[in-house]
Amino acid sequence: MSTRVGAVVPAAGRGERLGGGTPKALRPLAGRPMLLRAVETLLASTHVTQVVVAAPPTLVDVVGQILGPGVCVVPGGGERVDSVRTALDALDDDIGVVLVHDAARPLTPATLVDAVATAVLAGHPAVIPVLPVTDTVKEIDADGRVVRTPRRDMLRAVQTPQGFRRDILRTAYANRDLPVTDDAGLVEALGVPVTTIPGAEEAFKVTRPVDLVLAEALLADSLARDGQR
Ligand code: C5P
Repeated sequence: MSTRVGAVVPAAGRGERLGGGTPKALRPLAGRPMLLRAVETLLASTHVTQVVVAAPPTLVDVVGQILGPGVCVVPGGGERVDSVRTALDALDDDIGVVLVHDAARPLTPATLVDAVATAVLAGHPAVIPVLPVTDTVKEIDADGRVVRTPRRDMLRAVQTPQGFRRDILRTAYANRDLPVTDDAGLVEALGVPVTTIPGAEEAFKVTRPVDLVLAEALLADSLARDGQR
């Protein structure tokens, strides 16, 4: 396996749950687009040598200008899986390890990116960062009736970046019709073991308006602390 690490960033979502009209990845946080923050974090990692971004199709040029010449930008698709697939195809042939990272997780620390890459390079074929869940989670049927209450201490919330051996992710994406919401779900369906590592609180996904408020507050807090140093 080549040890060169590349990253793909699905950033083509419309962000309807966030509201506001602008595609989510381009929404500013403390004056800079979320996507730019996510890409800078990947490039700040000691492992990542190539970044490919899947942008809203009408905004490929705009996104290219925001990110600059070092980042490849491709048109995303209708579903997240379509965006990831197109970005994967654009990676250099000699990339052996792929990180898939949501543009919508702009405060992810570079240390988490490095931890995921390191675990794949150490021999784990698929690696995901996870956190314990704080709410009890119910499984319901189509009528909204509860059918099951999984044990909370055995549940984890999954973040990105998720890291994979490239050959395995490519095979997983051949199975694209599976109804999964993350890349590791496709890999699990192949029977490949997926390893968990501790995630980071700051790597939360900006989905709803309240997440934007939290992200702005965390950035203001870290800027204030930097100013005190
Ligand atoms: O919709 P959700 O919050 O799960 O999106 C996660 C990530 O996938 C976001 O960064 C979003 O921009 C991206 N996405 C995409 N193409 C789509 C839908 C979502 O690149 N068609």
